[in-house]
Amino acid sequence: MNRVQETLTPPPPPVFDGRVTEHAPLAPYTWFRVGGAAEMLYAPRNSAALAAALHDWHGPVMPIGVGSNLLVRDGGIDGLVVRLGRGFADIDIKGDTIRAGAAVPDAKLAQAAQRAGLGGLEFYRGIPGTVGGAVRMNAGCHGTETRDRLIEATIVFRDGTLRTLSNADLGFAYRHAALPEDAIVTEAVFRGIPDDPQTIATRMETLMAAREDAQPVREKTGGSTFRNPPGESAWRLIDAAGCRGLRVGGAQVSEKHCNFLINHGEATAADLETLGETVRARVLAASGHDLHWEIRRVGRAI
Ligand SMILES: Cc1cc2nc3c(=O)[nH]c(=O)nc-3n(C[C@H](O)[C@H](O)[C@H](O)COP(=O)(O)OP(=O)(O)OC[C@H]3O[C@@H](n4cnc5c(N)ncnc54)[C@H](O)[C@@H]3O)c2cc1C
Repeated sequence: MNRVQETLTPPPPPVFDGRVTEHAPLAPYTWFRVGGAAEMLYAPRNSAALAAALHDWHGPVMPIGVGSNLLVRDGGIDGLVVRLGRGFADIDIKGDTIRAGAAVPDAKLAQAAQRAGLGGLEFYRGIPGTVGGAVRMNAGCHGTETRDRLIEATIVFRDGTLRTLSNADLGFAYRHAALPEDAIVTEAVFRGIPDDPQTIATRMETLMAAREDAQPVREKTGGSTFRNPPGESAWRLIDAAGCRGLRVGGAQVSEKHCNFLINHGEATAADLETLGETVRARVLAASGHDLHWEIRRVGRAI
């Protein structure tokens, strides 16, 4: 090989510790079951492997949990999509503190706390995401949010540095944490409130029953589509604008809870996004409220 050819040869891709899949379809990893592929999907072995990979990788990075708040566009996501798995799924309880890996499902966190006689985390039982997604979204319901129970979270930043941030450092607001989009939560520590396990279980069952009644929890959906404007309910505004049941292609505004969009099986991400934008325009015209997406729309449109 001569000198010119040598300089034109691209550097070999970094070797990542864990599972890497090129052009990995993301639809199966999201609740909506729509969207294109990740250029690279990476499941790191542990946080040291993740830190090393981010240090060596020079393109864009995006973490995903179980995609319960994600609308991945049909053109997919460029760069490295990081999905935490087995190496981030431990729960460790000492006294009233609960340390949970970022891949732990919220429901499992609630159940482990209940068995250990720690209350205050019942609200997580019905949220279908992971601990990482809960920290990033400040997930919450029934008057309690992640920020009310979280002590600290460990994060791997884009340059590969790993830091533990306190609750105050995380700058929580309504469905928001002040973290860069490419920062990855690997673990979080929560404080529970000691209580009788049976009493906690009963509270949890009551919350679950209320959710089943009010939300289309068995559909392909992304949960609440729009944030509630201050002092208002998004669903009430959507209903008043005549959008209950509205359809675009295979996408529909839920008849049961009209702040939920549903994929009937044949929807594209474009159908869902167009439907959401149509709802926004109609609500603006009807009430003057400009709704803001709570669902994260990511990736490229086709
Ligand atoms: C039926 C249904 C009901 C729902 N009910 C509620 C509810 O009551 N309350 C509520 O708050 N939400 C609710 N949601 C929305 C959703 O479950 C939450 O936002 C949840 O926290 C998202 O977690 P996830 O792991 O699925 O994250 P994803 O949807 O995969 O990602 C959401 C965001 O978090 C980021 N993210 C994911 N993992 C990490 C990580 N490890 N580190 C850093 N960032 C990360 C992603 O980049 C993205 O920006 C509901 C959703 C559905 C489908």
